[in-house]
Amino acid sequence: MANRVLIVGWDGADWEILDPLLAAGELPNLAALIERGRKGVSRSCVPSHSWAAWPTFLTGCDPAGHGVFDILEYRPGATRRLPVSSRSILAPTWPSQLTDAGRTSLIVNVPLTYPAPEIKGVAIAGGVIPQGAPYSHPPEAGPDLGWPINGGSWTTFRGRPLELVADVEDVTRRRAEAMRRLMDEQPWDAACMVFVSPDRIQHCLLEYVHPGHPDYATASQTPVAHRVIDVYRLLDRELGTLIERTDADDLVLLMSDHGHQPVTRALNMNRVLESMGALRMGRGSALVSLLAWGRIRSLARVAYDRLGLHGKVKVPTTPIDWAHTTAYTSVTSTGEGVSIALDGREPQGTVPAEDYERVRTEVADALLGFVDPATGRHPIARVMRKEDVLHGKYLDRAPDLLLQPAPLYSLTHARQIVEPADWLSGDHRPEGVYVAAGPGIAAGAGEEISLADFAGWIKSALGVEVAAGADAPEQQAVGVFSDDEEREVEERLRGLGYLD
Ligand SMILES: [Zn+2]
Repeated sequence: MANRVLIVGWDGADWEILDPLLAAGELPNLAALIERGRKGVSRSCVPSHSWAAWPTFLTGCDPAGHGVFDILEYRPGATRRLPVSSRSILAPTWPSQLTDAGRTSLIVNVPLTYPAPEIKGVAIAGGVIPQGAPYSHPPEAGPDLGWPINGGSWTTFRGRPLELVADVEDVTRRRAEAMRRLMDEQPWDAACMVFVSPDRIQHCLLEYVHPGHPDYATASQTPVAHRVIDVYRLLDRELGTLIERTDADDLVLLMSDHGHQPVTRALNMNRVLESMGALRMGRGSALVSLLAWGRIRSLARVAYDRLGLHGKVKVPTTPIDWAHTTAYTSVTSTGEGVSIALDGREPQGTVPAEDYERVRTEVADALLGFVDPATGRHPIARVMRKEDVLHGKYLDRAPDLLLQPAPLYSLTHARQIVEPADWLSGDHRPEGVYVAAGPGIAAGAGEEISLADFAGWIKSALGVEVAAGADAPEQQAVGVFSDDEEREVEERLRGLGYLD
């Protein structure tokens, strides 16, 4: 058993990026941790985007077990999908179970922990947070630490890699400093902090650090590459400062919620469905697509940010003509999920229950058969039925089909059906990372584990036993955000590339 557990999350970290940096001696603290511990792949859940994956880390359940599949969800009585929050997580989390067992945690910056959970210890919410809202538990903890909320909005820095790097470094430094103070000043049994910086830079600067990216040979030789690597050097230094605060009796875990693969081509899944005749766009979509991406959008965004319009002006989104739609993209953030517009389930669904299987099979076959005319390749590598990959009591809410992109493809971020990736150069893949060191951990290569394994690992390391089948308290997801906050949150999700 360990005395305490330190978990450091590097959102989106991938061995294909880290291994060359390790070999070049750029990450001495990570190398030292690997030297005394075990290193392996941590496989993400499906869908793999951070809003579904971090709840899997927190609960040990796959998304059908915790109920979060996307950044938006349908709620009773709502006609459109609304942003998810920590109250959308419908399974017990390990920090709440540690609290029940009388143990103290520091839960810092884990995505989708707004509103901050009322644990024994300190929680600072991660993910997207409305300006001015209390974001920590206790409420004064975050402000006392000078904690910076939000940031790392990579689509906002389109074409300005050095400015994005500077923004990400600034936020990383300030957050690490706050975490050091927390670890020094507060008691803790488990300390968990997530750095989202790798994900933010890997979405648009992956060609500088991933040898598998076709542009790597040239990009890696530029001065920008050195600045991008600086982010990993900084993360490694901060990892060192947190590990310094542990001793030989503590379990240390470094992990990611998913990996990243190079991207050169991007899809717009609703447009793909439209090309197959499964979906029709509504009126007004021309204006929306003009605004959706590119120069006009980025100018509009700069004005939007400077004028402080977050939550005050709603940027138009692509409307769907539901009367002529049988399938739509239900994981809007990463395009990893497609659902059937089922009568009686989707508010405006028209597909009768008896046609569900037929329509789903037709859509799945068409998605697998979809060809990128420019390359002749199939952008969608796998299409899985939800019941074949997900298990849990919220399976009925899951996307009906789960998709995995082929190498070099992203299933989102495009304006047209399929187009060259522009600012985008990386997107998620299931192969995340972990390193474990501490009492009872043998050194060497580790077996592949699942992202869902961490919750049990942390609890058993601390000797906390939870009765099987223990349920989460009933949570009410409605009413977390005001209407203005909802709009603001959606806008910030756009900045993170999660919404068109
Ligand atoms: Zn991401």
